[in-house]
Amino acid sequence: MPIGVLSKEGRKQVNSPIQVTRSSMPPFEEYIEEIRPLWESRWLTNMGSKHQELEKALEQYLQIPHVSLFANGHLALEAVLAAFRFPEGSEVITTPFTFASTTHAIVRSGLTPVFCDIDPVTWTMDPEKISELVTERTAAILPVHVYGTLCDVDAIQRTADQYGLKVIYDAAHAFGVTRDGVSAATFGDVSVFSFHATKVFHTVEGGAVCFQDSALRQRLESLKNFGFHNAEAVEAGGNAKLSEFHAAMGMCNLRHLEEEIARRGMVSKRYRELLGNVKGIRLRVGQRGVRPNYAYFPVVFDGYSYTREEVFERLKAQSINARKYFYPLTSSFPCYRDLSVAKSLETAVHIAEQVLCLPLYAGLALTEVEKICETIL
Ligand SMILES: *Cc1c(COP(=O)(O)O)cnc(C)c1O
Repeated sequence: MPIGVLSKEGRKQVNSPIQVTRSSMPPFEEYIEEIRPLWESRWLTNMGSKHQELEKALEQYLQIPHVSLFANGHLALEAVLAAFRFPEGSEVITTPFTFASTTHAIVRSGLTPVFCDIDPVTWTMDPEKISELVTERTAAILPVHVYGTLCDVDAIQRTADQYGLKVIYDAAHAFGVTRDGVSAATFGDVSVFSFHATKVFHTVEGGAVCFQDSALRQRLESLKNFGFHNAEAVEAGGNAKLSEFHAAMGMCNLRHLEEEIARRGMVSKRYRELLGNVKGIRLRVGQRGVRPNYAYFPVVFDGYSYTREEVFERLKAQSINARKYFYPLTSSFPCYRDLSVAKSLETAVHIAEQVLCLPLYAGLALTEVEKICETIL
């Protein structure tokens, strides 16, 4: 329903704000049917049948031998970092142009983040700049497929192989993205997804680790379940289990995923038609052979008539809530003030100061997209 008009019932619609995102929901009855068996089994969590069903379905969908579900993407990242048992004081080369979780996971695991600048076109980690950051303490590279744009996975792998480093992808934005038909979950040693309510595919809260090496499975499973293996605590694990209710939500949302991506694609297409050829406005690049998932619609105002701040404020005055995603860089967080940054993060600083994510979700009306673009223009 367009905002500010009379509904069929003759009720005046309040000018409700347009949020940057809105969670997708399966049909109510479908979810009810999905959870009905739980009233019989009374098995509500601890890797029950919905959990197993979802892991299998995701292994198939993501074309990966192993999926291990987690309570959220952040704990999945922490579990991966723990599972590799890197020596204390190890360094992890990562991007500062990301959500807080990526950097926090490294620090909370007792490791040191070493920030690498980003590529000016894809805004993902610049593979050319990794080598100069490698030291004898470097254990892994942790890049992010930011906004669902794939990293230069081939160049990153070459560098990792050269120095014997693990590659852990934060793939929180890349669910459903494929390159030449190959799922984003298959790159590097491990890919970590978030199934948070705001992501393209969600389980309300949730996450997953995707990997090829079967040896990792037992470690991840004990780490998310108090360190238990065969009823014995073999290590100091935490609790990061995904419940049956969350897994059921995932089963439902997976059935509607293609439709979800297609509807996001239509919104994205309208934005591109209206903003694609405007001087001083830069959009996310398309990548050869890559099927996007339209997770976000970031816009960079570089030499535009108005600054990012001005556009943000003007949208806000129209009750349109865009988001300064990802600003500031995680390397500029107050809690990381004492971390030394070895190399210049010039491009990342530049993009973070100019980027704005516009509202994008499956149900966003094209008339609303037009209103948003009119306001910007
Ligand atoms: C959402 C997100 C996470 C964390 O996922 P949660 O499921 O919310 O814990 C990690 N990294 C990135 C880049 C994200 O966007």
